[in-house]
Amino acid sequence: MTQPAFLPGSFGGDTSKISDDSQLECKICWHVYDPAVGDEYWQIPAGTPFSQLPEHWTCPECDGRKIDFMVID
Ligand SMILES: [Zn+2]
Repeated sequence: MTQPAFLPGSFGGDTSKISDDSQLECKICWHVYDPAVGDEYWQIPAGTPFSQLPEHWTCPECDGRKIDFMVID
């Protein structure tokens, strides 16, 4: 089974398309990463842009990959 390359709204793994204050939403469980809040699960401090999250970061709710997140307008 082939995965679609990228859904519309996906950043496609190109973090340069994400601004530092962009919120991103997990397309699997709709968990929202808000840079103003950070991520308690991964101990990400508030003020950390999505593009600065470590490579091993995954969705705290469903273990989805960073590439499975979509920018919220
Ligand atoms: Zn998720």
